[in-house]
Amino acid sequence: MNKYLQQLVNLSQIDQKIDNYAPRIDSINRNLQLKKDEIVAIDENIEKVDNEISELKAQIANTNSHINEFNAKIKDISKKSSAVKSEKEIKALNLEEDLAKDQLEAANEEIGRLERIIDNKNELKAELEEKKTQIQNSLDSLNNEVADELKAIENERSKIYDQKEKLLADMNQKILTFYEKIRKWAKNTAVVPVRKQACYGCFMKINDKTYAHIIKSDDITTCPHCGRILYKETIEE
Ligand SMILES: [Zn+2]
Repeated sequence: MNKYLQQLVNLSQIDQKIDNYAPRIDSINRNLQLKKDEIVAIDENIEKVDNEISELKAQIANTNSHINEFNAKIKDISKKSSAVKSEKEIKALNLEEDLAKDQLEAANEEIGRLERIIDNKNELKAELEEKKTQIQNSLDSLNNEVADELKAIENERSKIYDQKEKLLADMNQKILTFYEKIRKWAKNTAVVPVRKQACYGCFMKINDKTYAHIIKSDDITTCPHCGRILYKETIEE
């Protein structure tokens, strides 16, 4: 193969490798982000449950102050009842006392109900916290794995950059400019093989004359349809 063409094939393969690192790094970071998002969602849930528990505790405190009022009232009634004489007054006081006792009982039941709800909320909170710990652990181990992977990618990448630098130093500037111009629109398909006598960039059939040129590969040939640089693959490629 023509030396310049061979250099272009190599350069395009190097550029492809370099461009492939970005999505790899993105996908690693995306996995980390998913776990972080899960933790944020759990934290929000825990906060919500905490608020609900505070609200329930406030209701209990409120009910307790009613209980104190009812107890005070019952005491007051019994004090009054020692002083009253008439049947009618006693009856009225008894009614009042019964009402206060009913209210007291209802209030105590209400506290029991609220406490049971708080117990359920606390159980839910414990479950959420356990789940959070699990995700945090898997995030930590993922972070460790990823650190190694990112380091490996960084190593590979710097090797590829070295290769590119060496290659560029050896290349003809005009040919390089020509390549970069095609790369602007064709991205990583600026240099493509010909397979089954078709351009592997635009997939159009190459005429016999151009195909013969490509097979000889003693010159740089572009696709007559799309303008990409074409080459005939050798067995080791
Ligand atoms: Zn083409």
